[in-house]
Amino acid sequence: MIFFQVKLGQWPIVTGNFVEYYSRTFRGLATGSCVPAVSAWPGKTLFRDNIVAGRPNGSSANGVTGRNEKFKEQAFASERLLKKSRAVSGKEIRRMVEDLLSFFITLFGALIGSFLNVVIVRLPEEGGSVVFPPSHCPACKKAIAWYDNIPLASFLFLRGRCRQCGVRISWRYPLVEGVMALISLALYQHFGLTILYPIYFVFCAALLAVIFIDFQHQIIPDVISLPGIVIGFGLSFVNPFVTWQNAGLGILFGGGSFYLLALVYYLFTKREGMGGGDIKLLAMIGAFLGWQSLPFVVFGSSLLGTVAGVGAMVKQRKGGKTVIPYGPFLAIAALLYLFFRREILFLFIRYVLHG
Ligand SMILES: [Zn+2]
Repeated sequence: MIFFQVKLGQWPIVTGNFVEYYSRTFRGLATGSCVPAVSAWPGKTLFRDNIVAGRPNGSSANGVTGRNEKFKEQAFASERLLKKSRAVSGKEIRRMVEDLLSFFITLFGALIGSFLNVVIVRLPEEGGSVVFPPSHCPACKKAIAWYDNIPLASFLFLRGRCRQCGVRISWRYPLVEGVMALISLALYQHFGLTILYPIYFVFCAALLAVIFIDFQHQIIPDVISLPGIVIGFGLSFVNPFVTWQNAGLGILFGGGSFYLLALVYYLFTKREGMGGGDIKLLAMIGAFLGWQSLPFVVFGSSLLGTVAGVGAMVKQRKGGKTVIPYGPFLAIAALLYLFFRREILFLFIRYVLHG
């Protein structure tokens, strides 16, 4: 661990935020602020045993007597601490509040997931509006009542079928709701109710919509990625993890490097390998996560994409051309970086820098 800390210290530019995070954690451990004070008090049991047994303070069952006043004072102090810890069962209250908060935050995620489903269906449509008309069954076109439109619960209750016509409802609906609910909870666990929660909630919601839209239609809508770049850059001014300089470089490198790659690919093959949508998506990722995220996002997404590509080829051996969009893998790699960047950095330093 010490090695790790020293190593991190030598990476101040690349790892700025991690250095701060780790030094804070280690300082906390060093000062013992994580260790409960009461249970570590040595005089506690002796003093309480004496009260029960009716012995004078400072004596003990095996006959050791004559402790001085200082010891007595210590024992009193420990008893006071113990009482205080009992009176403030605030810890329990706090845990209850946190559980309740977790519940509502998960529910909020599911609700936004429900909205994302509408975005995923209607955005790729020509002139599609996400507000009008209200939710309706894609088969029988009948409006869906509010009680049949409750995230996750309604799908289970209706056993995945439309109440009116009985047609199967896509598994995508509960999946998006469930994933967004989990992402919301994970963000809360990871960042607490800080400014980072809303910033990365917006980011994750955009990525989730991109994953499903690109997977189905092989497009990444500009209405998601272009505002995403602007919003990500704007939020970098209040984002304690990413400075506006790093976000700016993220947009530049994210958009630029991919543009170059696509250009080279086109010059050699006269075919378009990567869509312009991927370029804008990577610029958006750079805006939200900083340029430091780009090596992992590019490398990780190509790895994921290759694995998926090989899987698809094995599955349909006939040699037909499979189109696997790249955007979903970029988005998944960005999500992995968001939640596991410390672990990723650790593995990178441990195995790549040190062989
Ligand atoms: Zn129907």
